[in-house]
Amino acid sequence: MKRTIIEVFLALALIGAGVFGWLNWQQNQKSSSQLKVLQTAADEAAKSLQTSGESVKAAEEKAESLQQQLTPMEVQLQELAAVKAGLSSGATLADLQAAYKAKKKLSEEQQVGLAAVLLLTKGSTDPATLEAFRKTLKTSDLGNRKNTICAAQMALIAGGEKVDLLPECKPSPAAAEGKESKAEPEEKGGAHSKAESHDKAGKSEKSEKSDKAEKSDKKAGHDAKHDWGYDGLMGPERWGKEFPTCAKGKSQAPLDIEGPFVKARTNVSADYKEGPLKIINNGHTIQVNVTPGSKLRIDSVPHDLLQFHFHRPSEEKINGVPMAMVIHFVHKNAAGKLAVLGVLLKEGNENPAIKTLWDNLPTDQGAESSPEGIKFNPASLLPREFEFYSYEGSLTTPPCTESVSFFILRTPVNVSSAQVTKFPFKNNARPVQPRNGREIVMN
Ligand SMILES: [Zn+2]
Repeated sequence: MKRTIIEVFLALALIGAGVFGWLNWQQNQKSSSQLKVLQTAADEAAKSLQTSGESVKAAEEKAESLQQQLTPMEVQLQELAAVKAGLSSGATLADLQAAYKAKKKLSEEQQVGLAAVLLLTKGSTDPATLEAFRKTLKTSDLGNRKNTICAAQMALIAGGEKVDLLPECKPSPAAAEGKESKAEPEEKGGAHSKAESHDKAGKSEKSEKSDKAEKSDKKAGHDAKHDWGYDGLMGPERWGKEFPTCAKGKSQAPLDIEGPFVKARTNVSADYKEGPLKIINNGHTIQVNVTPGSKLRIDSVPHDLLQFHFHRPSEEKINGVPMAMVIHFVHKNAAGKLAVLGVLLKEGNENPAIKTLWDNLPTDQGAESSPEGIKFNPASLLPREFEFYSYEGSLTTPPCTESVSFFILRTPVNVSSAQVTKFPFKNNARPVQPRNGREIVMN
C-alpha cells in the first residue's frame, strides 16, 4: 500500500482517535487530559502537513510505531464519539484553518488533513460532513489517492468550506452505471473498507497491497516508494530508505541465537483462551487476530495477546540454522511495551492446530475473515516446555520499532512439509541482524 502523506495524516487521525477512545474507555478520564492527547496527535498531523519530507517521514514512523501499540479497536463507535466530544471546542480546527489561511490554494494533502479535523470537530452536529468523511476513512486504506482526495473534498464542501472540486471527483456517468472497468481492480482490492478501517489502528503488521493491486496502483499514477517486501527492490536491505530505524537501529531483530548466554531470572507463562477464529492474509503474512482475554505473564506482569502470525523460514536462527517456520505471538502490556513469544516450527508430523488454521486459510490478500462457528485456542500451538532464549529486539517488519522483548521457546513444535508448502508466502523472513553486544538470556 502506498504510504502517502495523506495516509500519514489519516493514520495519525485514526491513532488520535484510537488513543483518545482507548483512554476514555480504559480509564474513564476527564476530557481535559483526553483532549491533550488528541490535540498532540492532531498537532503532529498538522505539522506533518507543513514541514519537509524529512519530518513527514519521521511523523510516518511515529504513526507506525503508535499504531503498533494500540489494542484492536473493538469500540470504534465510542472512540469516535469521544473524539468528537474532545474536539468540539473547535480549537484544533481553528488552528489548522489559521495556519492555512494565507494560502491561496491548499494542496490535496492539506485538504485531506483539513477535512479530517473538520469531521472530527463538526461531524457530531453535521451529518453530511460525517457521512462524507466516513467515506474518506473507508477509502483511506486503499492506497487509492484519488478516492481519498475526492472524499475529502466532498467532506469539505459538506462542511461549508470553499473547494474547487477536481474534475476527476465529479461523478461521471460511466461510474454511476458501474461501468468504469479500469477502476475495478482497485475497488476490489479495497472493498474491505468497513472492517479494515475499523481495526486498522490495532494491527501490528499492516495490511499491504498484493502485486496485482499494486500494478493497478501504478497505472493510476501512485508511487511505490512506501511499499516493502522480502526481495528485490523492496527487500529488507532497502527498508531503511523509508523506515530509518530498520537501518540505523542498534537493537534490531531477528537474531542468530548463539552463546554465550546469560542465566534467566525471568518467569514467563502463557494463559491463552479459546475465541472465535479471525484470520487475515495481509500481503506479508498470515495473521490471526485474537479477541481480548489471552495473556502472557512476564514476571507476573500481564501482557495481552493481540495477534499471532507466521514466518517462513523462521526469522530467528539457532547457531546459524533456521527452522522451517516460526510463529510470533505479539503481546502488549498496560504500559504499551511489546513482547513477542516465538514458537519455532520444525518439519515433522502434521500439526492439528495449524490444520485448523490452514483449513480456513485466506490464500489471497484481503480483509480479515471469521469463518462461522470456528473457534481457536492459541495455546494449542504452544509446546509443553517453556524454556526460552530472550533478548531485546524490534519489530521485524517496517517500521522496525525497537524496545520489543523476545522470548523464543527452545522446544520447537511440529509442522508437516505439506503444511509448510501450503503457507502462501515462500519467504517472509527478515535476515538476522547485528547483535551489537546484546545479551541473550537463557533460562
Ligand atoms: Zn513476526
